[in-house]
Amino acid sequence: MSFIVAIDGPSGTGKGTITELIAKKFNFQYLDTGATYRCVTLKMIKENIKMDETEKIKEMLKNIKIEFDGEKVFLDGEDVSKKIREADVTSMVSQVSHLQEVRTAMVELQRRMSEGKEVILDGRDIGTNVFPNAEVKIYLDASSEERAKRRFKQNKEKGIDIPFEEVKKNIEFRDENDKNAKIGPLKQAEDAIYIDTTNLSIKQVEAKVTKIIKKKKKLVEKIEKAYVMTKETKWKIFRRKFTKGFLGLLYKIVYRPKMNGLENLPKDEGYIICANHMNYLDAAGLILCNKFPIRFIAKADLYRFGILSYLGHLFNIIPVKRDTGDINSVKLCLKALKNKEVLGIFPEGTRKGLEKNAKVKNGAVFLAEKAKVKIIPVGIHGTFKPFTKVTFNYGKPVDVSEFKKEGSDWLDKASTKVMNDIVMLTKKED
Ligand code: C5P
Repeated sequence: MSFIVAIDGPSGTGKGTITELIAKKFNFQYLDTGATYRCVTLKMIKENIKMDETEKIKEMLKNIKIEFDGEKVFLDGEDVSKKIREADVTSMVSQVSHLQEVRTAMVELQRRMSEGKEVILDGRDIGTNVFPNAEVKIYLDASSEERAKRRFKQNKEKGIDIPFEEVKKNIEFRDENDKNAKIGPLKQAEDAIYIDTTNLSIKQVEAKVTKIIKKKKKLVEKIEKAYVMTKETKWKIFRRKFTKGFLGLLYKIVYRPKMNGLENLPKDEGYIICANHMNYLDAAGLILCNKFPIRFIAKADLYRFGILSYLGHLFNIIPVKRDTGDINSVKLCLKALKNKEVLGIFPEGTRKGLEKNAKVKNGAVFLAEKAKVKIIPVGIHGTFKPFTKVTFNYGKPVDVSEFKKEGSDWLDKASTKVMNDIVMLTKKED
């Protein structure tokens, strides 16, 4: 299973120490991304390559071999764990790390080394650039005075002798350089958890990080379970019928749904229903007020919440992790369509996506083409205020395969056509 923990922050915040401790505790692989940039810097020094010798840098990057073995770092087979921490490397690494060619090569290396594993990485741009979908993102910070003290002490322990003032100056210089870099700048990811470690001991930081990871692991395990659909037992079918009957009746009383154009629905074959999305009540209406079963595709986070997770399992809702090319989700969808089931997808991707100008997602068209099924556009019209009518207008089936001759962006073109049909149907009079 893949599980990525991204620890970002400036130098001397305790990232390395915390990352090592956490890696041991959870049996994660540890990837010190700073060390990869240090290796490149060391190699440039060794081969006397200057910062502006782009071609030479590119050539050097083609052959560089960086490996980790526990805490040891190897450059082209040589143990450079100590050398990469020395003053010559430290004073240059920040500038080297922000060279476009170096960044691209190292980010690729870091992704490759982490693929499909449980990994903790520390660096500057892990949560923002290397793994923007990391399961856990933490941003460690501390005052520059405190960070210089820590780095000075750490150097001493490692037998590296650099005066305190020089350590502090270097830390401040690197901060400036890292924060203002055009490529891969040091920045807190919007969804990262911020921890100020100035007045915290390593143990206290470790405890905080441990708590965050444990909580997320539990959640991820819960969501992973959603990909294994619970069995269609008699008891489950009974509970679904009962829930659908009861909630459907309530829905019909409160929202007075009207279904138009049901004759457009294909018979005895799988298909995909694509509708506009205003709030959760539109999906509820489609699921509860149609005689035939519809399996919606919803963001995996739905399975975080008790009652929604229960209903998700009951109605076999297919989870999808957004923006990750969720292969497990695609497999479940294709299997369902092959079984002649009906899928429900909101191509807007999010509630009121059209209003927010969100780009229409082309997942539905992709699935329809792969499974060779049609898409039924549905325009939902109503305010969802209690006791006012909501209308569901089912349109004519769209055969997306006809768009394949339209060039490389046919997926987008077909998705736009589906969305346009939906918009037209929302305007259709009763
Ligand atoms: O973490 P460490 O101090 O070893 O990193 C050395 C330098 O590498 C940093 O000052 C920073 O300029 C650069 N770096 C980076 N992105 C990372 C890790 C390190 O730019 N992900």
